[in-house]
Amino acid sequence: MQKPSLDRASEAGEAPQPLKEDVGATDPGPRNLGRDRQNPDVLAPPDTDSGEVPNLRFSFSDAHNRLEEGGWAREVTARELPVATTLAGVNMRLTPGGVREMHWHKEAEWAFMLDGRARITAVDQDGHDFIDDVGVGDLWYFPAGIPHAIQGLEEGCEFVLVFDDGNFSENSTFSLTDWFAHTPKDVLATNFGVSESAFSHIPSGERYIFQGEVPGPLPVSSPRGTAPESFSHRMLAQEPIRTGGGQVRITDSSNFPVSTTVAAALVEVEPGGMRELHWHPNDDEWQYFIEGKGRMTVFASEGTARTFDYRMGDVGYVPFAMGHYIQNTGEEPLRFLEMFRSDHFADVSLHQWMALTSCELVQEHLHVDREFMDTLRKEKRPVVE
Ligand code: MN
Ligand code: MN
Repeated sequence: MQKPSLDRASEAGEAPQPLKEDVGATDPGPRNLGRDRQNPDVLAPPDTDSGEVPNLRFSFSDAHNRLEEGGWAREVTARELPVATTLAGVNMRLTPGGVREMHWHKEAEWAFMLDGRARITAVDQDGHDFIDDVGVGDLWYFPAGIPHAIQGLEEGCEFVLVFDDGNFSENSTFSLTDWFAHTPKDVLATNFGVSESAFSHIPSGERYIFQGEVPGPLPVSSPRGTAPESFSHRMLAQEPIRTGGGQVRITDSSNFPVSTTVAAALVEVEPGGMRELHWHPNDDEWQYFIEGKGRMTVFASEGTARTFDYRMGDVGYVPFAMGHYIQNTGEEPLRFLEMFRSDHFADVSLHQWMALTSCELVQEHLHVDREFMDTLRKEKRPVVE
């Protein structure tokens, strides 16, 4: 049965037009009305938009999906979203028992569990093993080159993976089955000290994702193995920074030490609220929208700015240092991840910058009155009402 949707009512109404008070004109078609309805600020941009800012949105719905027995995977990389050179993302589903096979890659892998549960395993270069069962809101991080595997538990799972290179491809990882298939059997026999017949049934190529048996419960005595640093983290167990319009949880190497190349913030904005005007002094921002609807304008200097609309399942991007805000434009909470190729999260608040600068100096720039200046807060409030 289909769930009743608030969107359905509001989006079935009159067709939006690329028309504002005294500019634009109606669109008699042909047109993709569904997309126009989802992107009102692209169809009729705010007057403050100007110039040529590159595309900063790509939806996983538009990404090629690789369907396998045991799950599926699709990716948004620099090939889909050319501006996104620092990070790449993969959206993956595993059935109960479904296995993303044992593999490694050149990039570090960060992940956020969206639905269900999975068992993750890894072994590091010093022979330390790691195993953990992760659920919704849990993270994992595997440093570059560290071999690992993921398997769906009883309820299956869906997660988003983020890699610290925009040109990563999930289809070019180093897989166990692929290597076996491309190694002479006599070499395998020598390596493992057994006869060649031990390998007469190995797969003829990479399996990538395949259906396995749901694994049994973890032994309580050693849920994590011997790895010196945990490869997983319970992000939702963190106490959020709460503000009037929502809340933020920040995870980077300060509270998840192994995650040295990816920093993240999980932002929740209430209806009518807004992620405040800010920028990041360390790197580009890669966003994944988990829930709700949002609108972002990116200020790119030189008199240029561009506005985009986002929904769950979309990827957004903000090039290094560009100013931006994100408004909740829906009737439900807006939840998204801000991700950075960095060992730490950092943002500069426009509000705080102005509050901590000489009142007279700010007034000389903006011609605002003293009353406004007195409302400025010295403490940062990442989400505002
Ligand atoms: Mn991987
Ligand atoms: Mn940001």
